[in-house]
Amino acid sequence: MALFAKKDKYIRINPNRSNRRPQVKPEVPDELFSKCPSCKHIIYQKDLGSERICPNCDYTFRISAYERLALTVDEGTFEEWFTGLETKDPLSFPRYQEKITAIQKETGLDEAVLTGIAEIAGQKTALGIMDSNFIMASMGTVVGEKITRLFEIATAEQLPVTLFTASGGARMQEGIMSLMQMAKVSAAVKRHSDAGLFYLTILTDPTTGGVTASFAMQGDIILAETQALVGFAGRRVIESTVREQLPDDFQKAEFLLEHGFVDAIVKRGELRETIGRLLAFHGGKK
Ligand SMILES: [Zn+2]
Repeated sequence: MALFAKKDKYIRINPNRSNRRPQVKPEVPDELFSKCPSCKHIIYQKDLGSERICPNCDYTFRISAYERLALTVDEGTFEEWFTGLETKDPLSFPRYQEKITAIQKETGLDEAVLTGIAEIAGQKTALGIMDSNFIMASMGTVVGEKITRLFEIATAEQLPVTLFTASGGARMQEGIMSLMQMAKVSAAVKRHSDAGLFYLTILTDPTTGGVTASFAMQGDIILAETQALVGFAGRRVIESTVREQLPDDFQKAEFLLEHGFVDAIVKRGELRETIGRLLAFHGGKK
């Protein structure tokens, strides 16, 4: 087994995919109705609106990174950075490369996070958006590398960082290499913080595992979307460990707000303005 064989470099750059500009094109699902994962009501698609919010319980449906761009970022200001990074599949995990290629085609993304620079309500920021459609936004070496580079360039250019988090946790196909990203990104966050720069995280549904246990919760200000699931271990794992039944809203953004882990829950429609205000207040640049 080559599982534990040491490989000195575990990512490479694919020149064919680098410097590729994304097309900002919100996707509209084909189905007429959606079931709200939170209140279980059947909702007519049109009633969700472009912001995709449940009219019954305010749950914010999961959206793609490109939909998020269209909703949050000032039109025409996004410039994508760090494209073309590819994992070298450190464990030679069966069918992993095929899975990545298929999901790249399906989502138009090259990995589970989109990174670049943008303006939000007129404020310039380094920006990362994680997309749960890409292997549940699990954090592998490329995700860790892109976010680390984002912080490094933001530090060099004296920019704030705005990061929309979403993740099912570490990417099991990359084993320990994936877990190592938690420390790597955290060190870059610390250097950015030591330079006196502002870091804003917005927790979206779901933000869990190693992402929650590292950079998602390291923001100077932590916002969350309505009813987003935020946690480290899964509910069943905790219940069977502590042998107690957990409250219904356990690991929901509202529960976290009540217990001081989140600074504010912001409605999707008010995010652009709120982010812009926070960036300006913390020494943003125009
Ligand atoms: Zn609902």
